[in-house]
Amino acid sequence: IKASILAAQQDYQQAYQQLDDIISERKRIYNQRSTRQLHQLRSQYELEVKEQRNQLLENENQLSKIKLAQQQQSNKLVWLYFAMAVFTCSMLTFMVYRSLRNKKDLLRLANEDGLTGLFNRRKAMELLQREFEMTQRYELPLCIAIVDLDLFKQINDNFGHGVGDKVLKQFGSLCKNTFRHTDIIGRIGGEEFLIALPHTHRDDAERLLDELRNKATTIASTLEIANLSVSISCGLCQHTVQQDIEAIIAHADAALYNAKETGRNRVKVYDATTNSQTALLTQA
Ligand code: GH3
Ligand code: MG
Ligand code: MG
Repeated sequence: IKASILAAQQDYQQAYQQLDDIISERKRIYNQRSTRQLHQLRSQYELEVKEQRNQLLENENQLSKIKLAQQQQSNKLVWLYFAMAVFTCSMLTFMVYRSLRNKKDLLRLANEDGLTGLFNRRKAMELLQREFEMTQRYELPLCIAIVDLDLFKQINDNFGHGVGDKVLKQFGSLCKNTFRHTDIIGRIGGEEFLIALPHTHRDDAERLLDELRNKATTIASTLEIANLSVSISCGLCQHTVQQDIEAIIAHADAALYNAKETGRNRVKVYDATTNSQTALLTQA
C-alpha cells in the first residue's frame, strides 16, 4: 500500500525500495518459518526414529524373552523325555529280568523234583540218555543204580506223611553230598531214586552206594525222631557195550529186588546168573 502511494506520488525509487524491502522481509520471514518447520520436522523425525528404534529394541527384547521361554520349554521337554526314557528303560529292564527269572523258575520246575531238589524222572532220563550215548561212543564206564527207601509205607503210617517228606528231603541232601556234581541223581518214583555215575567203575560205585546207605541210617538221628529207623536198598549195574538203557535199568531194578529179597539195607550188584534165576523164580 505504501509503495502504491509512493508510486502515485511518482516517487518510483522509494516505491521500488519499499517493495524490495517488503519482499526481502517476506523472504526472511519465509526462510525463518521454513527453517523452523524444518527443525520441527527434523526433531519430529528424529523423535519418531528414536521411538521406532525403541520399539524395535523392545520387540527384540520381547523376541529374546520368547526365545528364552521356548528354550526353557524345550529344556523341560528334553528332561521330560529323558525321564520317560529312563523310566521306560527301567521298566523294560525290570520286565526282562522278571521274565528271565520266571523262565529260569519254570525251567527249574520243569526239571526238578519239588520236594528233594533232585532231577525229576523226565530230566533224569533225558540226562541219562545223553550220558549213555557218550558212554557208547567213547567206551567209557557207566554205572546205574536204583535206590529205594525201605519200608517207607510203615514210616508214613507210623510217623505221618510230614515225617515221610522230611526223610525224603534229607535223603535228597545226602545224595547231593555223596556224589559228584556231574553224576545224575533223579527221583523217579515216590521213594525211588535213579543214580547214574559216569566214568565210574563198578567197585567204586558200589563203595559210594554203600557210603550212601550208611549215611541213610543216620537220617533218624539227624531229624531227632525217636524210634524212627531209616534204611535204603540199592541195585547196581555197570553198563556193558551190548546193553541199551532199558536193559541196564531193568538189571539195576533186578539187583534192587535181590537186595529187598535178601533182607533190605544193602547194596546188590547185578549178577547175570543170580538175577536171571531170581527172575525165573519170580515168574514161577
Ligand atoms: P519196600 O521196602 O518194599 O520198598 O517197602 P515200602 O513200604 O517202602 O514200599 P511201598 O511201595 O509199599 O510203599 C512206598 C510208600 O511211599 C507208599 C507211599 O505212600 C509213599 N510215598 C510215595 N511218595 C511219597 C511222598 O512224596 N511223600 C511221602 N511222605 N510218602 C510217599
Ligand atoms: Mg520202598
Ligand atoms: Mg518203591
